[in-house]
Amino acid sequence: VDLFMPERLNSAGLNLQNICDVEALEKDRAPYLQNCFTAHPLTVPNWHALGEENVINPADPTDVVGTVRSADGPTVDAAIAAAVPWAQIAPLAVRQETLNRVSELLEGNRPKFAALLSREAGKTLTDIDAELREAVDFLRFYAARAARHPRARPKGIVAAISPWNFPLAIFTGQVSAALATGNAVLAKPAEQTPLTAFLTVQLMHEAGVPMEALQLLPGYGADVGARLTSHPKVDAVCFTGSTATGHAINRTMAENLHPDASLLAETGGLNAMIVDSTALPEQAIKDIVASAFQSTGQRCSALRVLYIQDDIAAPFLDMLIGAMDELIVGDPLDRATDIGPVIDARAKANIEAHIAACKGRVLKQVAAPETGTFVGPTIIEIDGISDLQAEVFGPVLHVCRFGAGDIAKVITDINCSDYALTFGFHSRIESRAAEAAAAIRAGNVYVNRNQIGAVVGSQPFGGEGLSGTGPKAGGARYLTQFVKAEREVVAART
Ligand code: GLU
Repeated sequence: VDLFMPERLNSAGLNLQNICDVEALEKDRAPYLQNCFTAHPLTVPNWHALGEENVINPADPTDVVGTVRSADGPTVDAAIAAAVPWAQIAPLAVRQETLNRVSELLEGNRPKFAALLSREAGKTLTDIDAELREAVDFLRFYAARAARHPRARPKGIVAAISPWNFPLAIFTGQVSAALATGNAVLAKPAEQTPLTAFLTVQLMHEAGVPMEALQLLPGYGADVGARLTSHPKVDAVCFTGSTATGHAINRTMAENLHPDASLLAETGGLNAMIVDSTALPEQAIKDIVASAFQSTGQRCSALRVLYIQDDIAAPFLDMLIGAMDELIVGDPLDRATDIGPVIDARAKANIEAHIAACKGRVLKQVAAPETGTFVGPTIIEIDGISDLQAEVFGPVLHVCRFGAGDIAKVITDINCSDYALTFGFHSRIESRAAEAAAAIRAGNVYVNRNQIGAVVGSQPFGGEGLSGTGPKAGGARYLTQFVKAEREVVAART
């Protein structure tokens, strides 16, 4: 029995319940589909003086999901001045109880979250269900794990900078880890998804997290992010997003923050999968489609480069193209949809520019609606991973062929990319999979299955190199980043 595991985690193996939940969700969220939501910094008195912008549904430019008032530099300063680490207000047991209450409030507000996640982030029902469960798991897992650090002092003030691709799960993961360990949190959600963050923070306050311990700062990286990461009172930054932004944050912190301020960054990936000639094609195809295209390829764990052994490559690619023909790209609110939109027009333009640059080597592109920021799942043939400079964050899979006996060379090539997040291997020869897993540089290795959707508590998630600093999210060591080193008290006898 692991005393530091919560009694109940949601994620593992609940497929049946998953399907039932989705049906219930569809009915219950109807009232929330018309409503407009509003987000603003919750704790700063002058928020109504801040400029207001619309949040638009990426699948439907006529749907204004809500409005947001973004924080600016002085708002950030006021929030930092008001911040009080939660450990100064409440003991561990109260913090644990409160975070568990938050997990129940999230579950109780599924329909509202479903409406927001589909309209604000373009999430499909399947993705929404998984994301809600992951958020609930993070809350329960970190609340339970915090008992491992009963006397540890919190870092102090933590800036939590989260991405739009998991606007609920990653937002909640960062915030709950920092809160469980007793910090004060200043949460800056991605500018594309402030509404989901706003609802989450409202529920956290409703559950009893004090305002001083958790403040929301919606806004842009150039204003809010830059101010947070250069403010000398900030003790730790927890960031998930692009590798380029991770580098920029690292530089800003080094120049402005105290030397003991820490950065926990979870960044990009250039993730590969190898399929050898002994793999079970039906299984491999299913796992490739999920790994490359689920969540419209907008996961840092997603498969980007597929290596297929050349003697099976032709029929295998035919089968893969056939499977792609089955995918329905469209309105995420529609139950039949497999693939929703990408997050915004800028993302769409970047992905399309990459596809256009590879013209002539595009093997397949699935049709997608014209209106809204859709990109149809695409496969592009390349010679090897070194053809790619950086990750393309969308539904684009690159494929290349390798000869029998070249697996070791392929692994060396993959390891040269400097990204090291996820890796997949399909083979029916167990020793090969074990050798590959030992030789590959990646944080999460998946054999004969898909390579996305790490489960909180049992599959800690995170990479190395350009992919992030660790420790892994949902893992035993994650919380160590949010507490100070043990204090030694040595008293001489009087
Ligand atoms: N944890 C997610 C997964 O395992 C990916 C998180 C991300 O994209 O940032 O698929």
